[in-house]
Amino acid sequence: AELPADPDLTNEIRQVKNTLFSYVNPTKPSNPELIHASEEVAALVGISKDEIQSEEFLNAFSGKDILPGTQPYAMCYAGHQFGNWAGQLGDGRAINLTEIENNNQFYTLQLKGAGKTPYSRTADGLAVLRSSIREYLCAEAMHYLGVPTTRSLSLILSGDQVLRDILYNGNPAYEKGAVVCRVAPSFIRFGSFEMLTARNELKNLKEFVEFTIKHYFPEITGEPKEQYLQFFKKVADTTREMILHWQRVGFVHGVMNTDNMSIHGITIDYGPYGWLENYDPNWTPNTTDSQNRRYRFGNQPQVAQWNLYQLANALYPLINEAEPLEKILDSFINDYEEDYKNMFLSKLGLFTSSETDDKIIQGIEEILQLSETDMTIFFRNLSQIKKNDSVEQAFEKIEYAFYLPEEIKGEILDAWQKWFSVYIRRLNVETLSDEERTVKMNLINPKYVLRNYMAQLAIDEADKGDYSLVDELFQLLKNPYNEQPESEKWFAKRPDWARSKVGCSM
Ligand code: AMP
Ligand code: MG
Ligand code: MG
Repeated sequence: AELPADPDLTNEIRQVKNTLFSYVNPTKPSNPELIHASEEVAALVGISKDEIQSEEFLNAFSGKDILPGTQPYAMCYAGHQFGNWAGQLGDGRAINLTEIENNNQFYTLQLKGAGKTPYSRTADGLAVLRSSIREYLCAEAMHYLGVPTTRSLSLILSGDQVLRDILYNGNPAYEKGAVVCRVAPSFIRFGSFEMLTARNELKNLKEFVEFTIKHYFPEITGEPKEQYLQFFKKVADTTREMILHWQRVGFVHGVMNTDNMSIHGITIDYGPYGWLENYDPNWTPNTTDSQNRRYRFGNQPQVAQWNLYQLANALYPLINEAEPLEKILDSFINDYEEDYKNMFLSKLGLFTSSETDDKIIQGIEEILQLSETDMTIFFRNLSQIKKNDSVEQAFEKIEYAFYLPEEIKGEILDAWQKWFSVYIRRLNVETLSDEERTVKMNLINPKYVLRNYMAQLAIDEADKGDYSLVDELFQLLKNPYNEQPESEKWFAKRPDWARSKVGCSM
């Protein structure tokens, strides 16, 4: 590439100025073992089913061998973490192997957990099996849910032990190490541009923005300034669509720092993420954020806008005009609110519009929080309600979603009954038949998501060397909107033991 590269070829940790990436070789794993691979993602990058089982595949995607004709590199970027400027971060445990062009699409293949890079700061550059399973499974599950995301090609055990914790008795707690190969058009983040502007490397900034547009957004043309604005608008639009999907399926990212925001509007960096079980807009899976709850479910759209604001600041020196950037930022929330309303109505099976819609949405969002109510089960079962149902009949169909059925009495029960009587009346204005509506709703409200406890069960088994549950969940989540009678056990509320379980980031 023409982009400024780091002339130093060591993995030594350092600040790297005037550079967008550093060449770096993955650390060789001592005994790699393939746990799982996605045939579909392999096909995307031109790898056949048979090749997945080969020694070359194992060696290439564990970091043991370097693919012929390639030169792996780690990217240099910065970012705002939890609202504060964090300076240079970079790929501390991610290494880009190469870019592949297949069927007119670009795919960057990136190893996560393959050892130190110049950007590892105080950490080891490794990933544990636990977090690797979470990332591997969730990215693919999100894809099949229709949520823009990085993809997972492979999950490989490194054969090395990774130190993550010191026990209270002073003994080290080792965990199995793993390497995930993930795939995306690119891994360029908001923070990639922020870094150049913060360092006042404006020549590099211009070069990098122009490279990004030309290579990844060739549809953007025109005067340079106009191009930069179109680029920003495109990032804002795709980010908005991504967040809308997150809210639709109940996904909470947990670390929406600007270094974890892709310019392609795809979900990247599956760390302490989690899925809403009981519908609670204040919930965050990130234990380090439990005070401020900056990255709580209900705040994701606002945080996305805040992050876009940082990207706008980073692009500003090329544009030198605040107004057109502000216009895009302002319309972000307005457009989002409009889209959110339509999305939410579609979850309720309301495909026409009525003056009462705002009240119906507001009403259900409040009632869902009166007593712990499982989001996925509630919306899925809602599609079973018929126009002729009585309030009691309708209510019975969603009762299974309550975590504490004994609480559903008195005022809470009244609120539910009132809402259902309005809702059933509203359904009767819909033009679709009950059957048509069920089909449509079931393509919007998933039946199966990767609940935290499900991933945890797969992790526990994998830790003992049994990967069958990893595969079972992988297969299940390939069809999250389909009824899968043999897998009905996964259409279940979080069990009690998993109640306070949160995601993990390491
Ligand atoms: P995250 O919060 O996962 O986005 O990580 C923030 C920064 O820390 C990124 O620059 C990561 O590359 C880096 N990082 C996270 N974990 C490790 C690790 N085990 N070794 C090296 N760098 C890491
Ligand atoms: Mg990250
Ligand atoms: Mg991470």
